[in-house]
Amino acid sequence: MVKNRVQTPRLNDYISIVGGDTIDELKHLALCLKGRKIQHINSTRVGGGVAEMLTCVIPLMRELGVDIEWDVIEGDPEFYNVTKKFHNALHGRADVIVDRDFDIYLETAKKYNKHTEIKGDIVFVHDPQPIALIQNKRKMKTTKWVWRCHVDVSSPNERVWDFLAAFVEGYDASIFSSPKFTRPLKTPQFLICPAIDPLSDKNKPLSYQKINKVLSKYGISRDKPIVTQVSRYDYLKDPVGVVEAFKLVKKYVDAQLVLVGNSAADDPEGEKVLKEVKQKTKGVKDVHILLIPPEYNDIEVNALQRASSVIIQKSLKEGFALTVTEALWKDKPVVASAVGGIPLQIKNMYSGLLCHCIEGAALKMRQFLHNPDFAKRLARNGKIHIKRNFLITRLIREHMLLALSLFHKGDIISL
Ligand code: UDP
Repeated sequence: MVKNRVQTPRLNDYISIVGGDTIDELKHLALCLKGRKIQHINSTRVGGGVAEMLTCVIPLMRELGVDIEWDVIEGDPEFYNVTKKFHNALHGRADVIVDRDFDIYLETAKKYNKHTEIKGDIVFVHDPQPIALIQNKRKMKTTKWVWRCHVDVSSPNERVWDFLAAFVEGYDASIFSSPKFTRPLKTPQFLICPAIDPLSDKNKPLSYQKINKVLSKYGISRDKPIVTQVSRYDYLKDPVGVVEAFKLVKKYVDAQLVLVGNSAADDPEGEKVLKEVKQKTKGVKDVHILLIPPEYNDIEVNALQRASSVIIQKSLKEGFALTVTEALWKDKPVVASAVGGIPLQIKNMYSGLLCHCIEGAALKMRQFLHNPDFAKRLARNGKIHIKRNFLITRLIREHMLLALSLFHKGDIISL
């Protein structure tokens, strides 16, 4: 499934947002990387934050002149059931992990190790699914290996973590999204926050007409305030909690709820969660549960985020939560749980409102819906924060610096 990007932004298009100096610096760093090939490997091309970022990073780095490739490992549904259990276990959720799970993981790892061609002088391996690729290290003496962890592994199920840590410590370095997400490791760790592309179809400005067209396609009116959560149908994103919070809001404000979701190719739980959400919303008025076809996804998610009065992200656990970054970039007031990378993006009462439970989420949504000026002020602060810290140009810069530091002869230099 290929994403239908309407128009690929060019490097110079970013100058009006981040300034010419930033782009010049990227060009300079790219020159320093000449002759080195970078390879990213993950487990899905579509769905979820990792695919989202790589889709934007790869063309821009190519335009900078960097030799860069993106490959995806293949696994079967049984493997992705196990890796989803591992994902939940790393977040501390109490799924039952049995010996067979580790066997299934290792059997698939054997296959993907055989079929994945390691081409990079530096290889970024994303998340636990492809982590066992490091077993190729023995054969590839000069390759530098980086494990890019997008998950908060600060309080994991120890059995799963111990299994993965044996692989992690084979890498030359690992990257985490927040200092709070890490574990003690014998190998160097780097902090690189995720980022969004302000000019991608997901985030670029859209006309009022375009937004209205998307709203009417899904039968959503502008007459009532719109509260939206965008996320995979995943228990940890708590869409059921969003519905409960919305019911509380609805007693006071005649609002609409829009749940925009999809499922990532490497996430087998989606259908089950979606079914539960539909069950929970039976008889609740003004709820729109949307499954957007992949070919329209980015523009339509963009339009729905822009049409919203409030964006909610009521996750129980999170990685970084790019959905929050996207909403803040669009000048939206955001109510989000104080989990994962969300507090890095939202300072409570300054750039959004943090919540800790269903009732709290409902109260904070009402706070925004009843006070448009307050909502506007926090949204504006949020956008400035994202512009300074979480745009793709910063991410590309840090990836290149990290790559250079690994080839540096002395100790690893500090970013
Ligand atoms: N997303 C999307 N369509 C959907 C649901 C999610 O395009 O129906 C995107 C969302 O806009 C964001 C990414 O998927 O860019 C999710 O990233 P995030 O870091 O929030 O969560 P993850 O899914 O990686 O846990």
